Amino acid sequence: MAGDGDQQQSQAGRHLEVGHKSLLQSDALYQYILETSVYPREPESMKELRELTAKHPWNIMTTSADEGQFLNMILKLINAKNTMEIGVYTGYSLLATALALPDDGKILAMDINRENYELGLPIIEKAGVAHKIDFREGPALPVLDQMVEDEKNHGAFDFIFVDADKDNYINYHERLINLVKVGGLIGYDNTLWNGSVVAPPDAPLRKYIRYYRDFVLELNKALAADPRIEICMLPVGDGITLCRRIK
Ligand code: SAM
Ligand code: CA
Repeated sequence: MAGDGDQQQSQAGRHLEVGHKSLLQSDALYQYILETSVYPREPESMKELRELTAKHPWNIMTTSADEGQFLNMILKLINAKNTMEIGVYTGYSLLATALALPDDGKILAMDINRENYELGLPIIEKAGVAHKIDFREGPALPVLDQMVEDEKNHGAFDFIFVDADKDNYINYHERLINLVKVGGLIGYDNTLWNGSVVAPPDAPLRKYIRYYRDFVLELNKALAADPRIEICMLPVGDGITLCRRIK
């Protein structure tokens, strides 16, 4: 049973309404962000890819426009040059990345599905950034295992975006921590998993949300306890946890 001291402790750890500004209060507020600062600044190619993706049956998988803008900004802030993306779909986050990198920048992009990547590829080509992309079709884990074997890949990446099979994120992390440079960033996407991370056990959840939920919860705990990284969980999109390698 929790004593008073424990209760006070957990009260002290709870956020206070005063000064609590990070969670959006309404859909209208999100729409405001999109219409005021995202859509007016969205490059034409990203708009075109977003509109094409919206017509695709699996469009729920795409990165949102505000998250694309965030990725583009952070890549420029850290002067990223050599990057990786796991989980491409039609390429919205890939294009956001490719546009942020210098002309000789590189993205190793992996997905088990080439068809969806090829839907967006003509738009990426038209934007003049396809030469930065090295697309590999297939599961990412064996590729990472192979890369880790070669010392020259250790610490080679400035930025890595992980947006694929959530049940593998922990496995990816154990490889990626070697491949990202000290001071570099790994971004794990969907770490709030549709808000289900705080859903009560009997909450009605869509099947795939329920299935992956425990993996996301485990990942979040593991990242918070990992001394090799500093972390920052942002409520952008479906939640993105930035991990900065420190050793
Ligand atoms: N970042 C993308 C965007 O901006 O549109 C969205 C990626 S989508 C949420 C997840 C992708 O991960 C799917 O395209 C799926 O084919 C891919 N995927 C699933 N399992 C994978 C694996 N083992 N290795 C590589 N990609 C995988
Ligand atoms: Ca995602």
